[in-house]
Amino acid sequence: MKRVTLFGATGSIGQSAIDLIARDQDAYDVVALTGGRNVTQLAHDAKRLGAKLAVTCFDDCFAELKDLLSGTGIEVAAGNEAIADAATRPVDWTLSAIVGAAGLVPGLKALELGNTLALANKESLVTAGPLLMGEAQRYGATILPVDSEHSAVFQALVGEDISAVERVIITASGGAFRDWPMEKLATATLAEASSHPNWDMGQRITIDSASMFNKAMELIETKEFFNVPHQMIEVLVHRESMVHALVGFHDGGLMAHVGPPDMRHAIGYALHWPTRAQLPVERLDLAKIGQLSFEEPDTERYPALELAHQVMEQGGLSGAIFNAAKERALDGFIASEIGFLDMARVVEMTLNKMSSELGVTTGAITLENVLETDRLARIRAGEAIATLG
Ligand code: NAD
Ligand code: MG
Repeated sequence: MKRVTLFGATGSIGQSAIDLIARDQDAYDVVALTGGRNVTQLAHDAKRLGAKLAVTCFDDCFAELKDLLSGTGIEVAAGNEAIADAATRPVDWTLSAIVGAAGLVPGLKALELGNTLALANKESLVTAGPLLMGEAQRYGATILPVDSEHSAVFQALVGEDISAVERVIITASGGAFRDWPMEKLATATLAEASSHPNWDMGQRITIDSASMFNKAMELIETKEFFNVPHQMIEVLVHRESMVHALVGFHDGGLMAHVGPPDMRHAIGYALHWPTRAQLPVERLDLAKIGQLSFEEPDTERYPALELAHQVMEQGGLSGAIFNAAKERALDGFIASEIGFLDMARVVEMTLNKMSSELGVTTGAITLENVLETDRLARIRAGEAIATLG
């Protein structure tokens, strides 16, 4: 039996992972499930999967979760420390699917087990890529990507030598506003930004897809995960979300990964790696689909892409600034403090302001430095919001 722990079990990725595990329950020993306010879902899944431990990150949800699980023998805990503690329980496979920088610490702790970390939490790679990859090496752990693009690149690289790679192309659907006139973008509402043409995901990543901050994060994620120079990484707009990534080799060949827009593929690949298992995803009928389209991204419409290249060039702690400023700007958009286009302005202002502060780009990427940079960047981004709002 494979021992598994799922962080962010109640979210979009977590629920897709549970769908796969529940179909083949006898193959898994579910050690811990974690979530947030949705304790009803958490308790329901903990019961049906026979988890040993259920943890909510919110202290004020403890009583309700305890109540829901009373008499089941399932251990209950709450708070950030309890989440990090859950990562120390021995398992073979951990899913990191918390949203935001909050996923970093449990991810790092899970690596200490020296087993497999299936990483959906892209914020931890953006914030502290070298730290995460270094810790994986130190503890002999394997990180497997659970982002459709990065799983695609990973799969295209099986049996290949990374030194033969000339370019890595990740695709983007273009998000909710790909056909909107530029003038209208400034007035885009939260509801409008929260619907995705192709993927069904959590609200934050859906809005990040509309602004292409998601793709910007994925550019950085690609650089950190595959250790390729940023000049080699490209974004192509591909409306159908079926070709997830392409890897170009020195001999001119391109290996593309094609599949339906269903995260259960990338999750299932990581769950069964290094083998492939039958997965309940749609089989594409390419003749029926007929055509697939590719376009250059419009950098004026999506300034986040340029900001990602700035971050990759600067290196150091600028990824931590970028992510924290983006998270704070997104909070600001969700709370109607700023408009849709202001998010990129806030991130740019924060990056520029903090890049001139001593040590930001040269500071060592330790957990302490990363957390302090994250904290400061949220304050600076808040100040930027105040000047715009
Ligand atoms: P979601 O909002 O649906 O779920 C987030 C999960 O994290 C929930 O279980 C929530 O309770 C938990 N959580 C939120 N804040 C927390 C905190 N402070 N501490 C502990 N737990 C917390 O998000 P999602 O769409 O499932 O995305 C999860 C991660 O996977 C994100 O990093 C996202 O970028 C990445 N990702 C998602 C998709 C997708 O299709 N949804 C695709 C690729 C990558
Ligand atoms: Mg993705």
